[in-house]
Amino acid sequence: MPRITINEDLCKGCELCAAACPKKIIALDPLRLNAKGYHPAGVTDPSACVGCAFCATMCPDCVITVER
Ligand code: SF4
Ligand code: SF4
Repeated sequence: MPRITINEDLCKGCELCAAACPKKIIALDPLRLNAKGYHPAGVTDPSACVGCAFCATMCPDCVITVER
C-alpha cells in the first residue's frame, strides 16, 4: 500500500491536493489547526490510495510525500 506523509505544519489549507485526488480521499480536518492556524489536509482512507502522487505534485508547498 502506498504511504502518504503530510507535513501538517506547512499546510495552508488551499485544498488543491483534495481537488487533484482521483480517489477523493484527501480532506481538510475541520477539528484541528496547525502551527499556521489552518485546518491541515489529511488522508481519510489510506487503504484506498493508488499511489498516483497527484496530491504531492499539486501541492504548491511540497507538504505531501508519497512512497510507493
Ligand atoms: S497518491 Fe493519489 S490516490 Fe493517493 S492520496 Fe494522493 S492523489 Fe489520492
Ligand atoms: S495542496 Fe498542500 S498546502 Fe494545499 S491543502 Fe493540500 S497539503 Fe495543504
